[in-house]
Amino acid sequence: MKIAVYCKQSNQHNKENIVEELIKNGFEIDEINPDVILSVGGDGTFLRAVNHYIDIIDNVKIIGINFGTLGFYNEYQRDELHLVIDTLKSGEYKIFSHRLLLGTAIYEDEIKKFYAVNEIRLENPFRTLTCEVFINDESLEIFRGNGLVVSSALGSSAYNKSLGGALVEARFDTIQLTEIAPIENNVYRSIGSSLIIKDDSEIVFKGKFIEEVIGYDSHYVHEGILLELRTILSDKKVNIIRRKDHSFVKLLRKTFVK
Ligand code: NAP
Ligand code: MN
Repeated sequence: MKIAVYCKQSNQHNKENIVEELIKNGFEIDEINPDVILSVGGDGTFLRAVNHYIDIIDNVKIIGINFGTLGFYNEYQRDELHLVIDTLKSGEYKIFSHRLLLGTAIYEDEIKKFYAVNEIRLENPFRTLTCEVFINDESLEIFRGNGLVVSSALGSSAYNKSLGGALVEARFDTIQLTEIAPIENNVYRSIGSSLIIKDDSEIVFKGKFIEEVIGYDSHYVHEGILLELRTILSDKKVNIIRRKDHSFVKLLRKTFVK
C-alpha cells in the first residue's frame, strides 16, 4: 500500500518519525500517487491535504491523525500511530464518502473553479456586501450584510455553526446557506435564517464584487472584478477512513460537548 504523509512545515520532525514507522511496517511512501493520504495535524491540515490531492481525491482514501487542536476530521490521536498502522493493514475501518462543494467564480476576464470540503464563502471585511442571491436561477433576495456562507453537511459544524446554522448529519447530501451579519430593518431584508436545500440545487451570488473575498476551506481568492459566484455540490468525493464504531453522535459529543 502506497501512503502519502501530509503535514504542515512546522510538523516536519513528526513526519520523519511517522514515515520511518510506516516503512518499518512494510508500507511504501508515495507523495505523488498514493492509495492513502495520512493527514498529520488538525482540521486545517486535513482540508489542505484534500486540496493538495484534489485531482486524485476520488481515487484515494484519507485518514487523519490529530497533532492539532480540535481534529473533527481526525479519527486518531497523536499517540495512536500503531492503531492507524493496524487499521490500514487489516482493513478494519469504515469509509465515509462525502461530496465536495464546487465553486465557479466568474470574473470580468476569467473563470476560476475550486473545490471545498467545508464551505465556500463570499465576504466583504470593509463595507456592506450587497448581492442578489439566486437558487436554481430564481431570485431569492437582495442580501446586505458582511457575507454569505454555503456549507456542505460535513462543513455544517465549522464556520456555519458559529453563524447559528444547523448541524447536519454528514450522511445527508445538503447545501446550507448561512448569513454573516445580515442587515435587517424596514428598508433592507433578507431571509434571516439558515436555509438547507437539496443536493441538486445551485446557489448563485450576483453583483459587482471588488473588495469581496472568496473563501473556501482554509484558502481564499481575491482578484479582479467578480460578477458571479456559483456553488453546487459536485460529484467529486473525499473518502474518509474512520473507526469501525464511528458514530455521528459520538463525534458531536467529542467535538462540542465533552
Ligand atoms: P481554523 O481557524 O483553525 O479553524 C477554526 C476551527 O474550526 C478550528 O478549531 C478547526 O479545527 C475547526 N474546524 C474545521 N473544520 C471543521 C469541521 N468540519 N467541523 C468542526 N470544526 C471544524 O482554520 P483552519 O484550520 O484553516 O480551518 C478552516 C476552516 O475554519 C474553514 O473551513 C471554516 O469553516 C473555519 N472558520 C471558522 C470561523 C468561525 O467559526 N468564525 C471563521 C473562519 C474560518 P482545528 O483546530 O483542528 O484546525
Ligand atoms: Mn486549524
